Amino acid sequence: MSDFVPFALPEIGEEEIAEVVDSLRSGWITTGPKTRRFEDQFREFLGHSDLHTVAVNSATAGLHLALEALGIGPGDEVITTTHTFTATAEVVRYLGADPVFVDIDPATYCIDPEAVSSAIGSRTKAIIPVHYAGLPCDMSRLCDIAAASGLHIVEDAAHAFPAAWDGRLIGTLGTSATVFSFYATKTIATGEGGMLITRDEGLASRARVMRLHGIDRDAFDRYSSRRANWYYEVVAPGFKYNMTDLAASLGIHQLRRARSFLERRTQLAARYDAALGDLPVELPPRPCAGSGHAWHLYVIRLTDRAPVGRDDLVRRMFDCGIGCSVHYIPLHQQPYWRDRYHLSADQFPCSQKLYERGVSLPLYTKMDDAAQDRVISALRSILC
Ligand SMILES: *Cc1c(COP(=O)(O)O)cnc(C)c1O
Repeated sequence: MSDFVPFALPEIGEEEIAEVVDSLRSGWITTGPKTRRFEDQFREFLGHSDLHTVAVNSATAGLHLALEALGIGPGDEVITTTHTFTATAEVVRYLGADPVFVDIDPATYCIDPEAVSSAIGSRTKAIIPVHYAGLPCDMSRLCDIAAASGLHIVEDAAHAFPAAWDGRLIGTLGTSATVFSFYATKTIATGEGGMLITRDEGLASRARVMRLHGIDRDAFDRYSSRRANWYYEVVAPGFKYNMTDLAASLGIHQLRRARSFLERRTQLAARYDAALGDLPVELPPRPCAGSGHAWHLYVIRLTDRAPVGRDDLVRRMFDCGIGCSVHYIPLHQQPYWRDRYHLSADQFPCSQKLYERGVSLPLYTKMDDAAQDRVISALRSILC
């Protein structure tokens, strides 16, 4: 029996390791010069000098900070998709506001813009679209809808680095904020980490203050020369969301490899496409013209003709030594969300169908062709 093919695996190279060691030896292991360098290089990667990049210790933190800076609070509603990880919606509850869940578009598995439009009410303040699997949402339509009702858009881009809409990188579209994740399984990984992107200077400076206890750095800078560097001012009850230089050390080198990582992921996705087309499965939605897929996930959906169900398929793949996963158990199925907002599956038929029939196949840059061929032949033996 050959080795287990995991569902996901980060690719950490010698440069990343040396950079972490360099930080360890320097004695500066929390937020410092490496975090600043990672923020600067991330802005350069996105190619817009007017963007602000705020490094944080998770995408969840970044989403929370963005909504906080936008003034979202009790009585407000934020529209998002049921087909996401709980972090997308929990940040709305952190602030005492309420998420309003809508279904996905079966053609993209991303939030359905028409459903967003119908869900807008007098309390709606923002929309959180999720670029599911790394495929961008229909941002043109969503931006039109948001503009017509005066709503903010905060993009959950946890899957979407790097991805593009209408020829422009996600993060540069001019929405209120975009948040990327560098969690261990994401397209670039720092263990835990995230980056908040915004063009709004006020939002960026509020997020910078709130990511570190509500300490106002400008006050610090203003007074530090006169009063030495012990002086600071607390202007709000902030959070502990700062990125460490250890994580940033990984991020700096992961970022440099992001293009080649994407190339490999795209190649692997194309190999799956070519090998699975005749099976009783629907292949993942394609990007439309001008859009670029980050290929964080490769999700197939069993058709009516499939001889096994999703549970059996995942179990039998595991028996073949292959790790698969399901993205996601939709939020309308999770006790907290279901009970608090009286949600049921019939309100979200497209998400429910993807949940019941969707399987995420192994996809990671360190997967070689031989390992992928094993995944393919196991799938073929179960589904043919
Ligand atoms: C991973 C993920 C998050 C949270 O990212 P963290 O960096 O772990 O906080 C949020 N939304 C989606 C869709 C994710 O996949």
